[in-house]
Amino acid sequence: MENRAKHLVFLGCGLLCAAALAIPVASAPSAAEGPQDGQAAPAASASTASAPDFPVASGARLAGDDKQTRFILDLDRKIAFRAFPLADPYRVVVDIPQVNFQLAAGTGSAARGLVKAFRYGLVMPGGSRIVFDMTGPVKVANSYVLDAANGQPPRLVLDFEQVDRTSFVQSLAPESRPELKPAISEGNTASIPAVTTAALPPVTTTDPRPLIVIDPGHGGIDNGTQSGDQTEKNLVLGFGLALRDRIEKSGKYRVVMTRSDDTFIPLNDRVKIARSQSAALFVSIHADALPRREGDAQGATIYTVSDKASDAEAERLAETENKADAIAGVNLTDEPTEVADILIDLAQRETKTFSNRFARLLMDEMKTTVRMHKHPLKSAGFRVLKAPDVPSVLVEIGYVSNKGDLEHLVSENWRNKAVGSMVQAIDTFFAKRLATAGPAK
Ligand SMILES: [Zn+2]
Repeated sequence: MENRAKHLVFLGCGLLCAAALAIPVASAPSAAEGPQDGQAAPAASASTASAPDFPVASGARLAGDDKQTRFILDLDRKIAFRAFPLADPYRVVVDIPQVNFQLAAGTGSAARGLVKAFRYGLVMPGGSRIVFDMTGPVKVANSYVLDAANGQPPRLVLDFEQVDRTSFVQSLAPESRPELKPAISEGNTASIPAVTTAALPPVTTTDPRPLIVIDPGHGGIDNGTQSGDQTEKNLVLGFGLALRDRIEKSGKYRVVMTRSDDTFIPLNDRVKIARSQSAALFVSIHADALPRREGDAQGATIYTVSDKASDAEAERLAETENKADAIAGVNLTDEPTEVADILIDLAQRETKTFSNRFARLLMDEMKTTVRMHKHPLKSAGFRVLKAPDVPSVLVEIGYVSNKGDLEHLVSENWRNKAVGSMVQAIDTFFAKRLATAGPAK
């Protein structure tokens, strides 16, 4: 544990090197996996070889009880890794080089011992991550990578042990706290906007056309809501790309995507992309879901930011969406608080007015082509909408939990109609803005 904490500093760069070999892998203790390794690993789907050079993870399982829980990941070769805990909520994050996960559907959803659930996926090009939700404070008592032996493939093994809150907090402090964040920032923040801006035409600064930022929610390790094999992150990416193409076709605007592939982007970085590029409009795209017991809801909803949610459903949704960073293992204690609180208080009136105006225009256009929620305009404290100087809306384009909505969400015809009405609203918004307020910035 202690050794590992010191490694945190190097995480940012370590992840960026695909090999990440600078990070020493703790040598394996003699203890083999032993009898706990009883559950059969799901068979790897016949080597799909879709991502040629990445290590393949073919099975993952948990064993043990609520005092000690072991995690085992079957691999096709040894990899470097770094494991570290995060607080509030209790999580353990394991950063590894980019891995091609070929795990059975549902892997990680069942609780066992100290682990409530775990997720895995890409957090950035070259870097994958596994995030464990823990039932309480734990330490990583052992962690190592085993060579292939006795018919078993190479394996990553982690042993979690229950500890009390005090020793847990001590294990984070003092130097690890600030360093936890570089896991996703430092090296990474540099890389994240780079990915986006790479797609920008070089004339950005002299191009007078208004810039629209399209923000497909979730991505990478964070799937968002899910229904069968349809994930929110894929649905909203497809929608966002279609919207981008349509806007670009008009030639009237520049467009930047916060993500244009299956990569995780922290919430703050989405806001930063809009602010750093002086965006004139920020549109976040999501697809909601209701838990079955909470009934059925349908239709699209348009959200703006407010410090007080307009109703309970809006509040629930904002809470869920704001958890994206926790899901991906971003250290929340290290979020700059000025973005969290002050911005809302200051909430520049003009920005708010423009956000609300665009939301209403969008509703007027969308309701002519798309089924809307019975209360289609709402507000709540979405972190992704908190840029003080960029009019921002979040559109839940439908409910993946509703059969009819899901049929729409996967239909190209429906998407074309929805995208068309969004572009219409954007045109009206900027036409008015240009007429009343001079050139949009
Ligand atoms: Zn979402």
